[in-house]
Amino acid sequence: MKKGGYHGRYLTIDLTNKSWQVKDLPEELANGYLGGRGIGGKLLYDLQPGKVDPLSPDNHLIAFTGPLTGTHAPGSSRITFMCKSPLTNTINMSSMGGAFPNAFKRTGFDGVVISGKSKSPVWIHITPEGVQFNPADDLWGRTTSETETAIREKVGEKCRVACIGPAGENQVLFSAVVSETRTAARGGNGTVMGSKNLKAIAVSGDHELTIADKQSFKEIVQKIRESQNENMGVASLQMNGTAGVVSVSNAMGILPTKNFQTGTWEAAEETSGAAIAEKIRIKSMACASCPVGCSLISEIKTGKFAGTKIEGPEYESTVMLGSNLLISDLNMIAAANHLCDEFGLDTISTGNVIGFAMECYERGLLTDKDTGGLALTWGNGDLVLSLIEMIALKQGFGKRLAQGVARLSKEIPGSEGFAMQVKGMEIAAYDPRGVNGQGLSYAISPRGGDHGKGGYMIVEVFMPGSDLYTYVGKAAKAAHMANNGAILDSGSFCNFNFIPDDLVPGLLTAIVGEEYSEARLRNIANRIINLERRFNIREGFSRKDDTLPARLLKEPLPEGMAEGKTVTGLDIMIDEYYEIRGWNKEGNPPEL
Ligand code: SF4
Repeated sequence: MKKGGYHGRYLTIDLTNKSWQVKDLPEELANGYLGGRGIGGKLLYDLQPGKVDPLSPDNHLIAFTGPLTGTHAPGSSRITFMCKSPLTNTINMSSMGGAFPNAFKRTGFDGVVISGKSKSPVWIHITPEGVQFNPADDLWGRTTSETETAIREKVGEKCRVACIGPAGENQVLFSAVVSETRTAARGGNGTVMGSKNLKAIAVSGDHELTIADKQSFKEIVQKIRESQNENMGVASLQMNGTAGVVSVSNAMGILPTKNFQTGTWEAAEETSGAAIAEKIRIKSMACASCPVGCSLISEIKTGKFAGTKIEGPEYESTVMLGSNLLISDLNMIAAANHLCDEFGLDTISTGNVIGFAMECYERGLLTDKDTGGLALTWGNGDLVLSLIEMIALKQGFGKRLAQGVARLSKEIPGSEGFAMQVKGMEIAAYDPRGVNGQGLSYAISPRGGDHGKGGYMIVEVFMPGSDLYTYVGKAAKAAHMANNGAILDSGSFCNFNFIPDDLVPGLLTAIVGEEYSEARLRNIANRIINLERRFNIREGFSRKDDTLPARLLKEPLPEGMAEGKTVTGLDIMIDEYYEIRGWNKEGNPPEL
């Protein structure tokens, strides 16, 4: 296949036999599914039947770039990891930024499909010449930063590494894949990697990528940069990082606090983006090819990790390890974030499951006997640090937390209503009772309670004139945003680069050398979302799973701007959403 933006080939690796092959990337796959999440999802759907045990050698772990990756377009260093999720049993897709995606593209391959299971721990090195298999016995048990350092010492500083920590090795169901300080965090891609005894993927190479029309590409990138210079969202991210949203969420009454018992907190400002900038941030940072730079490097000032530098904390981590657990000490939040990154844990699921356990303890549904004598009290930062380690190592009560909220809740009668998960994935850091459309987004997201794949409805908070509490008109907006998200994830755009919608088709056209109209992209997005729905139906999911925890539907927020609100009209929004997508009443899409 000869197109700009693609190398036209990808790798398949069988870890059982330690063999690999180079496959041509079929043109119809690129045409129909674009890249990243789209192509990865299509390969996953075709390569394995339904009901595969996600922790068996038959599950595939796929990492795929998009046509933007490697072009140095703004925010384009992205790669999507995909698998059948061991946490949810749905399709799973997690996008990673940083330097790894561009480095992957320089190997001369667009992606990799990994199956099987190595008999003993292994790490792989992908270069333009192919794949080398290396024993990883000496790396097993080591943290993510130790692993990366050790591999780069062996292979050379220019190589980039994506790896798992002890959590993935121990099959914690919400384990992440980590590269430097960026993660493909959600849904257990790291768990699947661990189930294959695969400790790390290292990539190096200097393969050039073709851009079909360099002049048009340059002109469109210039327009994107000009629009970014005038964009308030970009300015805000540059000033306070994503954690700048903490103050907004608190003001809107949608800041998850005490396991979503309330949506506002008097100590929230102590954890705001401005507080982070003032107290622990030492510099800003950006993924490769990113002019926005929403990331930051912080230094922990107090406690046993004093002096440690971390990236973040980002918004989701700040909230789920902060207000959700009533922890206002930024040093403690940063330390918890650091431990999650080093052990290879998703911070959202980790903070959510700990908050859930704390509420169970508060209600007497869990006792000291269950916890091994640990008093699961709110606001105890040292306890949270201990629990994170216990989760990652599956020690004591940590073993039960390592299953995630849905499975733990099944063991605790009476807890289902405040188990803050959808389809088994822990809900992210926005309470939808104050942004009704986000309730629809969580309910219909293909991988469960994440905040983006069903449409970033949370952005309505920033849109003047939005009626945040109605269900009217939300389905059409969610469908539109879910389509945009599918194109961003598949083309490999970062959401936070605020690339104007009308520049996306032209950018792809310039890179690939074929006409991408808005209509063509809409068709691709529909195809991707329909395929993901079909994947989940094959796994046994149906309309009954497109729902929310009772807390969000029946318990009004007790205070703050959204006081008295619940998610309303969910069934109506779902009916409308299905209809807009051309799905039937049960949520079945047309045949592929
Ligand atoms: S905006 Fe943030 S997450 Fe996105 S590419 Fe830039 S630094 Fe990375």
